[in-house]
Amino acid sequence: MGATGAPASSSRTPQTPSASQSRHNGESSSSASSSSQAPPIEYPRTVAQSLKPSIGSFIPHTDHIKKSFDYLTDAAVEYEEFYGQPGAKTAGSTEKPSSRKPIGRSKAALAAHASQQAFSQDPRIHQMEDAILAAVDIQYQMEAERAALESLAGLISMGGKLPGMDLQVSFQELLKTEIKHQQNQRKQQQKQTGRDMDRPLLDFRTKVWDYHHMNEPMPVGNLDGAMGEDDEDDEMEIVMTGDGGQQSLKCPLTTKFLEDPVTSSSCKHSFSKDAIMSMITSQRQTLCPVHGCNRPITAGMLQSNKALARKVAREKLIQEEMSQAQEDEYTTVE
Ligand SMILES: [Zn+2]
Repeated sequence: MGATGAPASSSRTPQTPSASQSRHNGESSSSASSSSQAPPIEYPRTVAQSLKPSIGSFIPHTDHIKKSFDYLTDAAVEYEEFYGQPGAKTAGSTEKPSSRKPIGRSKAALAAHASQQAFSQDPRIHQMEDAILAAVDIQYQMEAERAALESLAGLISMGGKLPGMDLQVSFQELLKTEIKHQQNQRKQQQKQTGRDMDRPLLDFRTKVWDYHHMNEPMPVGNLDGAMGEDDEDDEMEIVMTGDGGQQSLKCPLTTKFLEDPVTSSSCKHSFSKDAIMSMITSQRQTLCPVHGCNRPITAGMLQSNKALARKVAREKLIQEEMSQAQEDEYTTVE
């Protein structure tokens, strides 16, 4: 969590000159106390402000990672243009088949390997896929670090109890939680592509494949490869909770169907806008009211979730039709 000196993106955040100073104070006093049983240090709430520039500094890096997906994909499409063949069963050159073995023996690893072999046997294509996957790994890791830092700042600014005895240990604890959260998130996002793979990899393959095989379906190995019916690439399509369970279409606060749903960027829990905003405006921020979540939520973390709104509308329609159909059934039965 090095301070890269990038200014905070939030204009509401005043720059605090004592930022690094107060953090160093925290670290030095922690190394002085050798016992892990020491009570957590209580930090003044201004320390939370000092963390904000670091949180903001993640944004340019994550933007660069996203661009790297495009660069890699463009390079691969060019490669396909020169070495791929229109009639070939797989993408890339067919002259140098890869002797690559599956990494790991789990069902998922074998399926990923089968799907990769079916897509291409060209070792160069495999290398490019590795590069995409490495960048995806970094993307999730950075998101976990950013979220852990944000949680830390949230806890301090609300006077909450830190999970460790100092900032460093607390950050590591929060990071562990966030990494698990991101792993679940990644699995859910892979499922939503319908092909159990990371979205950037699927985009990569689709573009490379389409160059020479526009009218043929992309091979998927021995997976059943049923495409999901929902192929919107809206990130907010994710309606999963942090623990991997499916999010209900009801608001946890009102217990009724979500109205004007908003989703917190910190934990992906969703609420009816009015309900969560009334919790936030009274104290500027709140801890997530979903049982066991407790991540801080500010107004800035809430994003309007159109995809979820559509799901709610669809579900309402289905329920209406079902009750209508039931009524019809009763009236036609003699
Ligand atoms: Zn939550």
